[in-house]
Amino acid sequence: MATQADAQELASLRALSASIGLNPHMTQAAGGNTSLKAGDTLWIKASGTWLKDALSDDIMVPVAMAPLLEAVERRDPAADKPQAFAIEDLNPRGLRPSIETTVHALMPQRVVLHVHCVDTISLAVQADGETEVARRLSGIEWAWVPYFRPGLPLARGIAEKLRPGVDVLILGNHGLVVAAETVAGAEALLHRVRSLLARQPRATAAPDIAALTALADGYRLPADVEAHAVALDPESLGMAEAGSLYPDHVIFLGQGSVVARSGEDVAGVTARLGAAPPAILFPGAGVLMRGDASAGADAMQRCLADVTARVDSKARLNYLTAAENDELVNWDAEQYRQMLNAANTA
Ligand SMILES: [Zn+2]
Repeated sequence: MATQADAQELASLRALSASIGLNPHMTQAAGGNTSLKAGDTLWIKASGTWLKDALSDDIMVPVAMAPLLEAVERRDPAADKPQAFAIEDLNPRGLRPSIETTVHALMPQRVVLHVHCVDTISLAVQADGETEVARRLSGIEWAWVPYFRPGLPLARGIAEKLRPGVDVLILGNHGLVVAAETVAGAEALLHRVRSLLARQPRATAAPDIAALTALADGYRLPADVEAHAVALDPESLGMAEAGSLYPDHVIFLGQGSVVARSGEDVAGVTARLGAAPPAILFPGAGVLMRGDASAGADAMQRCLADVTARVDSKARLNYLTAAENDELVNWDAEQYRQMLNAANTA
């Protein structure tokens, strides 16, 4: 830490990070990240750690910002491995910086918050998302960045759209970035943007817990009762079944969603697929999670219910392509995050 003021801001940022991390409508599992620039050093959440642990655990890693930005500028693949830019003297635990470190480094403001806000994602997956966001964010200096894989491709996409004064980014099929000179300013902007983008979720009937329990052969109920909604609302179910809507879904739950056919039980689904998926959606009943599904899988299954319930059921949606799904699953930075997640089973 360069100064006492920086140390105080970092303490404030950790408190804000923990509160953001405890809100499932803002972050899920190891998703989302926050940062503070102190001189030439960027303090950023470590990859695979959860924002909710920001006060109880040391999750912030120092990164040398100038060389990382030069790597982005040169389109150097090294920018996809931000651990190469961690300042080892200040990183005794050897934590890896977030795979989204370049997003934070590119924003000129001192404090950057990146969240997977479910209201934002629900707009950011709609083909008309940019127009719909524009209607809601008048008076805000924002930019729309179409979907790119997190890391160097997303950093290049942001660099193309940044213009002086922009302090809000809407990332297509991904989430929200807000930036300000102080933690308090960033928090206020986050709340303002979230309230402007807030959408009413469609209400659903209650899950059929008795039917699910009878079906649960090596599977269990989800950690959050809210997760069932995606299987209870026919429109949400259709959106989920059609593919993957955002990267962390693919990382924690695999490609798309598995929906049981009429009369099919867990054994029937796994026999049909030749594999046991992390989650199975039973139309009209609810969701079952595989017995060994991770806490991250549970958080993302709930996220899917929260996002799809907010999407306009008449809107055309953008899904990740097969190639975009594959590049997430096969990217070594994401495999590292999956490994940390697997160690954290529910
Ligand atoms: Zn993200």
